[in-house]
Amino acid sequence: MNASSRRKFLQVTSALAATGYFSSRTALGRQQRDQLGVALVGLGSLSTNQIAPALQKTKHIKLAGIVTGTPSKVDVWRQKYGIPQENVYNYETYDQIANNDAIDLVYIVLPNSMHAEYTIRGAKAGKHVFCEKPMANSAADCKQMIEACEQNKRMLGIGYRCQFEPHHQHCMKLARDETFGKIRGIEANFGFKIGDPKQWRLRKDLAGGGPLMDVGIYALQACRYLTGGEPIRVTATETKTDPVKFAEVEESLSWTMEMPHGIIASCSTTYNFNGMNNFRAFGDDGYFGLDPAYSYEGIKGTSSRGPIEFPQVDHFAAELDDFAQCIREGRATRVPGEEGLKDLLVIEAIYAAARTGTRVAVQSV
Ligand code: NAD
Repeated sequence: MNASSRRKFLQVTSALAATGYFSSRTALGRQQRDQLGVALVGLGSLSTNQIAPALQKTKHIKLAGIVTGTPSKVDVWRQKYGIPQENVYNYETYDQIANNDAIDLVYIVLPNSMHAEYTIRGAKAGKHVFCEKPMANSAADCKQMIEACEQNKRMLGIGYRCQFEPHHQHCMKLARDETFGKIRGIEANFGFKIGDPKQWRLRKDLAGGGPLMDVGIYALQACRYLTGGEPIRVTATETKTDPVKFAEVEESLSWTMEMPHGIIASCSTTYNFNGMNNFRAFGDDGYFGLDPAYSYEGIKGTSSRGPIEFPQVDHFAAELDDFAQCIREGRATRVPGEEGLKDLLVIEAIYAAARTGTRVAVQSV
């Protein structure tokens, strides 16, 4: 955490303490409950296939409620996960979650353009908020989300699951300890071949952009958490082979980032082919990296000195257990709203660089 986010966190936690949040509401409300209750907002693919199953493995948090705009999903979810009717909301009744003590936090798993509204409404309803990546469609929205959580004295975390994955954590340590010497360069790439041309991910208003917003953000994150530094300037090139399918968002994008200490990062993302899912950091004394790096399982590490092997974990269970403990203990999350904002500032610079063909400076927070 840098000085500014630490300062902000201390302000929030001391404000929470001053309101008696930790000592009264949290402790009293939870005396009988070992686990915090989370309501999933949006029951699409990620909630169904990853998050709800992960919440069956967590120790500090459990699935307590759902918010959905699709009535046919309600009975299925209620039966499968034993969710009581009073913990079921739709997008209109969502704000009434304020009156439900069984729900401590909401997890926003909606199309990107809806993250800001549902985070802000969740915070105003008195709930802590965990929000999927990308945090929002713009840095301006990210700032409003952070402000809403600060004003309502709620914690805000972003779903950067890789930061809780042992191979990634080990690579962060290798970088920090300069085990392979000082890092001079990084390559990071993530893309996949997208199907259905009608899906929200191809609509600018809902997705905010194409593969950069969706998966390129993992490569960007990796460069930031490996170096511990913020990109200074970027260049970018877009490639488009199907202007009909990709009428509103980019199809493929390559970009470079000038990082502190002269580190150069080269990254790519695409919606046009599978298999690009890696990073490699080059130091004075060798290299290390992951491939695949960002999948839900099967993360594999290599280095110039041999393989990097750690147990595979459920990324979603790990990030959610950590966030629940942060709330409980009044401890800062390593994935606060500021992390999401910093990524959006870089993403905005990358899009500007691709649009103008110039080298663009990244705005600071
Ligand atoms: P999805 O399309 O499967 O689900 C989206 C949900 O939002 C659906 O339940 C849909 O009914 C609902 N919805 C409400 N209003 C909508 C609208 N106007 N248009 C479309 N759907 C609408 O998407 P998903 O893959 O579950 O992604 C949801 C969020 O999770 C996105 O922000 C995405 O970036 C993020 N995500 C993160 C990861 C990860 O590994 N952390 C993986 C996949 C998705």
